Amino acid sequence: MDLLDHTILGAFPEYDGHEAVYEYKNPEIGLHGYIALHNTTLGPANGGTRYWTYGTATDGLRDALALSRAMTYKCALAGVPYGGGKAVIIAPTSGKSQELFQTYAKRINELQGRFLTGQDVGLDAQDIATMQAESPFVMHAAAGNLGPWAARGVFAAIQATLTALFASDAVAGRTFAVKGLGNVGSELCSLLITHGGRVFAADTDPQKAAMMQQRYPSLTIVAPEKIHRIPVDIYAPCALGKELTRDRIHELDCKAVCGAANNQLADDTASEQLYERSILYVPDYVANAGGLINVVESFAADGYREERVTKRVHDIRQTTAHILEQANTERCSPHRIAEMLAQTIIAEKMFQKG
Ligand code: NAD
Repeated sequence: MDLLDHTILGAFPEYDGHEAVYEYKNPEIGLHGYIALHNTTLGPANGGTRYWTYGTATDGLRDALALSRAMTYKCALAGVPYGGGKAVIIAPTSGKSQELFQTYAKRINELQGRFLTGQDVGLDAQDIATMQAESPFVMHAAAGNLGPWAARGVFAAIQATLTALFASDAVAGRTFAVKGLGNVGSELCSLLITHGGRVFAADTDPQKAAMMQQRYPSLTIVAPEKIHRIPVDIYAPCALGKELTRDRIHELDCKAVCGAANNQLADDTASEQLYERSILYVPDYVANAGGLINVVESFAADGYREERVTKRVHDIRQTTAHILEQANTERCSPHRIAEMLAQTIIAEKMFQKG
C-alpha cells in the first residue's frame, strides 16, 4: 500500500490533518481504493468499508477523507474507545469477486489492527464473510442488524430536539418527514408512528414505500423529490449523503433536521446556512451513532452486553440535548459545538497520554 503525501492531501477540503491515508491497487483484479485513518487518539481507527461506483478515483479519496473524519467525532461523542477511519473500494467495471475482497482484506492486515472495519454501503453479508476469512480486523456480524439500533439513536436525538423546540419530548401530535425507508428509515418510521407522530415518508424504491404504507395505514407516502419540502417539525434524512445542498436547504420547511444519513452536509457552509434559516441541525454523527455503539460492543473485553448498548444509545439523547443547549447559549450552529466537544474529548485524552 502507498502512504499518501500530506502535502498532496492538503489540497482537498475534506483533509483535516489525517494521521495516515493509504492507497491500495491491484489492477489485475480491478482492486483500487483508499484507507483513511483520521485520528487514533481514543483507540484504533474504526469505520466501515464502502464499495461504490465513483465518478473518479479522487471522488473516492475525498469520500474516505470526509467519512473517516466524521467517524472520529462519532466515536468521541458516543463515548467508545475508538478513533475514526474509513475505507472505500472503487467498484471495478468487472464487478465484485471473491479475489477482490480477499486481496482487500490482506491490505487491512498490513495495518496490524490500526484499522478495524465492517460493512458499509455497497457491501453485503457474503462480501464481509469473504473478508473475515482473511482478516481478524473485519468485524463479524455478531452484533446483528445495526439498523434498529441506529434508528433508536436517531429517535433519542429527535426526543432531545423536540424538547429544545417545544419544551416537551412528546412525539404525539408532532410531524416528521423521513427520506429513505431502508434499514434505519423504516425502523425510525415505526418508532415515530407508534409514539403517535404524524409521518410523511419517501423512498425511490416503490416496493419499500408500498410495504411501509401497508404496515402503517396512517403513513403518508410522498415523492422522493418532494419529501424535504413537506411542512413538518422535523425532517429526517435516512437515505444517502450530501443531502443538504444550498438549494435544498433553501427549500426546507421544517424546524429541525435530525436523521441517520452519513455526511448530510453538502459542504462546509451548509450548517451555517441552516443556522441562518433558524433550522436546528443535529449533526449526523451524533444522531446516527447507535449502529456503531452496537458493533463495537462485540469487541468489549467482558463480552457483549445488550443493556450497555441500550444505555449508550439512550445517552445520545443527553448528548444531543447538551449540544443544542450549548449552541443556543453560544449563538452558533450545533455542528460547530459538536465538533468542539469532540475535539475537547480528544485533546483531553492526548493530555492524559502525555
Ligand atoms: P439502506 O440502503 O437500507 O436504506 C437507504 C434507503 O434510501 C433505500 O431504501 C433507498 O432506496 C433509499 N433512497 C436512496 N436514494 C433515495 C432518494 N433520493 N430518495 C428517497 N429514498 C432514497 O441504508 P440504511 O442502512 O437504512 O442507512 C441509511 C443511511 O444511514 C445511510 O446514509 C447510512 O450510511 C446511514 N447510517 C446507517 C447506519 C446503519 O446502522 N444501517 C448507521 C449509521 C448511519
